[in-house]
Amino acid sequence: MAKVNRNYLKLPGSYLFSTIGKKVNAFIADNPDKKVIRLGIGDVTQPLTPTITAALHRAVDEMGRAETFRGYAPDLGYDFLRNAISVNDYKARGCDIEPDEIFVSDGAKCDSGNIQELFALDNKIAVCDPVYPVYVDSNVMAGRGGEYDKVLEGFTDIVYMPCTEDNGFAPVIPDTVPDIIYLCFPNNPTGAVISKEELQKWVDYANDNGSVIIYDAAYEAYIRTEGVPHSIYECSGARTCAIELHSFSKNAGFTGVRLGYTVVPKDLVIDDVALHSLWARRHGTKYNGAPYIVQRAGEAVYSDEGKKEIKGLVDYYMRNASYILNGLKQAGYSVSGGVDAPYIWLKTPDNMTSWEFFDHLLTSANVVGTPGSGFGPHGEGYFRLTAFGSYENTVEAVDRIIG
Ligand SMILES: *Cc1c(COP(=O)(O)O)cnc(C)c1O
Repeated sequence: MAKVNRNYLKLPGSYLFSTIGKKVNAFIADNPDKKVIRLGIGDVTQPLTPTITAALHRAVDEMGRAETFRGYAPDLGYDFLRNAISVNDYKARGCDIEPDEIFVSDGAKCDSGNIQELFALDNKIAVCDPVYPVYVDSNVMAGRGGEYDKVLEGFTDIVYMPCTEDNGFAPVIPDTVPDIIYLCFPNNPTGAVISKEELQKWVDYANDNGSVIIYDAAYEAYIRTEGVPHSIYECSGARTCAIELHSFSKNAGFTGVRLGYTVVPKDLVIDDVALHSLWARRHGTKYNGAPYIVQRAGEAVYSDEGKKEIKGLVDYYMRNASYILNGLKQAGYSVSGGVDAPYIWLKTPDNMTSWEFFDHLLTSANVVGTPGSGFGPHGEGYFRLTAFGSYENTVEAVDRIIG
């Protein structure tokens, strides 16, 4: 008789966004005349840029001609894209990452969920709390979570590293030594960044303890503060302890196009095995590949015109972020993030819970955000607003909130 993987049943389910959806729909049904503005979405809204659209069209035409048609893409991705990534994202920053250490994929979400397959089930996992839920969920599904504790609102075998106002939203090295440490900077949802000195401490700690860091750099393009690292490989020794995840979603608007990459350096050897060879094997059989057409669009992101256009997109969202951050600050809210990330992290006023504040914002300002408790136990008492809306809607929403 077939048996299911019961670890899946341990996940509370898509409680967060389904509850938001229900509450918003009920509000709209009761208040059909009100214009609800969504500042809660973690998805981009601006269209693909002209250079990227043109590259897509060219590649589609190539696929329609016998002499330029392509079938399956190479396992690790096309050379033209991996070379562009190596040169622009790494060599230009003084990081020694070669094209054959870059694995192109259909996005960072898939890779951040799949990367745990390389590790044995008895590894101890540590995550920032709050954080993007995929790291915990994928490890729970694999069987590394233990049980869900309703009181803690977390899993018994996961090490949660609190990132709160008290520590400047930066994780502190935990008491138990974790085997695998997930770090995400700039962080979703807090918008916090990490300094190079602080990140270097984590790299040294991982090397000293034989731990592996999985570094999610999905929001790297939003970093504006001088000295904030864009890649973990800016730290010395990271080649022997760190994997890095990248996405074209939040900078270039590829959430619906799907493209990302993962770096596994050849020097990363644990338990006498090079993780590079394991991930390559995985790519050979379970490859979540990106189509030729999409990889050509990714190449265009690194062209001179493409870079200018992408900067324009990021600047557009960051103008929204500044408006939210400054408006709420002036109105007396306690807010952080929003400088090197498209997320503003708000401490709920008057000791409201995350969900109480959600209801308050929806009914008083008709604005939808995301309750912080949905990102981990230490997200309670906080609230996430995102800069991914249109400028006009963002301004209107903030003006309504601060009234
Ligand atoms: C959005 C997001 C991703 C997902 O990126 P895709 O490439 O679209 O799969 C990965 N990590 C974080 C932290 C994100 O917020």
